[in-house]
Amino acid sequence: MKILQNVSLKPFTTFQLGGRAEYFAAVSTKDELTDAVRFSRQAGIPYMVLGGGSNLLVSDDGYQGLIIRNQIKGVSRYEKGAHIFLGVGAGESWDDLVAYTVKQNLHGIENLSGIPGSVGATPIQNVGAYGQEVQNTISWVEVFNPATMEFELLTNRQCEFRYRDSVFKSGSGKGLIVTEVGFKLAKEGVPNISYRDLKQHFNEQDIRPTLQSVRDAVLVIRAGKFPDLNQHGCGGSFFKNPIISRNQLRRLQDVYPDIPHYSQAHETYKVPLAWVLEHAVPWKGVRRKHVGVSAQQPLILVHYGGGNARDMKRLADDIAHSVRSELNILITPEICFVGNF
Ligand SMILES: Cc1cc2nc3c(=O)[nH]c(=O)nc-3n(C[C@H](O)[C@H](O)[C@H](O)COP(=O)(O)OP(=O)(O)OC[C@H]3O[C@@H](n4cnc5c(N)ncnc54)[C@H](O)[C@@H]3O)c2cc1C
Repeated sequence: MKILQNVSLKPFTTFQLGGRAEYFAAVSTKDELTDAVRFSRQAGIPYMVLGGGSNLLVSDDGYQGLIIRNQIKGVSRYEKGAHIFLGVGAGESWDDLVAYTVKQNLHGIENLSGIPGSVGATPIQNVGAYGQEVQNTISWVEVFNPATMEFELLTNRQCEFRYRDSVFKSGSGKGLIVTEVGFKLAKEGVPNISYRDLKQHFNEQDIRPTLQSVRDAVLVIRAGKFPDLNQHGCGGSFFKNPIISRNQLRRLQDVYPDIPHYSQAHETYKVPLAWVLEHAVPWKGVRRKHVGVSAQQPLILVHYGGGNARDMKRLADDIAHSVRSELNILITPEICFVGNF
C-alpha cells in the first residue's frame, strides 16, 4: 500500500467536486487497512473512509488528513435452509452484487438495483429505494474498530438501522470501518412491486414480475430520474425526506390538502420532500449557472460542470432555509460533508 500526498478527490466523487486530500491510501486487504489507520495515528491526523464517493460533497479546500479508499474485495457463500448467506467485501461494487444475486435467483436486494457505490457503504445510511432497504437482508457487518485495532462482528440489531441512518453515523459506531457485509437472501420469494412507480411500470408493460424484470424496471425508472453520471455530477438525494408531527401535518394539509404523507412510528409522518420542492416551495428545475436542482427529481442537486462545492452547498442551504421559513419544516442532508464548509 502506498500513501500518496496531495491527491485531488474530484475524480473519486460522483459530484465531481472538491479539493485535495492531504494523504490518500487505497487499501485492498485488512492488513493494509490496519496499516493505514496506524499511519494516521502516528502522524496525528484524522482519517476518513471513501467508497465510491457517491454520497458525499468534498469541500473545495479538500481534506486535511488521510483518505482511506476501501477496495477490499471478495465474496463467500454458504447455504442454510431456505437461505443463501453471502459475505461480501466492502470494496465490491454494490450494483455488481445486485446483478449477481438476480442472476443467481436470490431474493432481497433486487429493488436496490442501480444505486452507485460500494457494498461497505450500504449499511452506513441503510440504503433504500423502491420499497426495499438493506437492513432487511443484512445479517452481520464486519468492522475494524480503530479504538481496539481489532476486527469485530456486529449483528443486524447492533447496527441500529433507521431511515437512512445507522449506528455508524453517530454514537458508538462512528469511526468503525466496514470491511465485510453479510447478506441473508431467500432462495424463493415474491418480487415486491408495491412501490408506486414500480406498480405503474408493471401495469403499463403487462409483464410478469421476476427478479430480472424488477431489476430491469428499476433501472429504466431510475434512468428517467437521475442524471447520467457520465455527463453531470450528482450525489443522489441531497436531503432526507422530513418526518413531521401530526400537528405539523394538519397545518400543512390546511394549505395543501393533497400533500402525500406516510404514517411512521409514534404518530409521525414522512413527507416526500420532492413533492414539497415541486408544489409548496418550488425549487424544481432551478439552475444557478454551474449547479442546480434537477428538473426530473428535485431531491437531486446537479453539478453541470465547471462549478465548485461552495456553490453547491450554498444552493442546498438556501433550499433548507426556504423550506424552514415557509413551512416550518427542518430538512437534513442525506449527503455527507467532507472537510470544512
Ligand atoms: C445517482 C445516484 C443515485 C443514488 N440513489 C440512491 C438510492 O436510491 N438510495 C440510497 O439510499 N442512496 C442512493 N444514492 C446514494 C449513494 O449511492 C449511497 O449512499 C451509497 O451507498 C454510497 O456508497 P459509496 O461507496 O459511494 O459511499 P461514499 O460516498 O464513498 O461514502 C459515504 C459515507 O459512507 C462512509 N463509508 C463508505 N464506505 C465505508 C466503509 N467501508 N466503512 C465505514 N464508512 C464508510 C464514508 O466515510 C461516507 O461518510 C445515490 C447516489 C447517486 C449518485
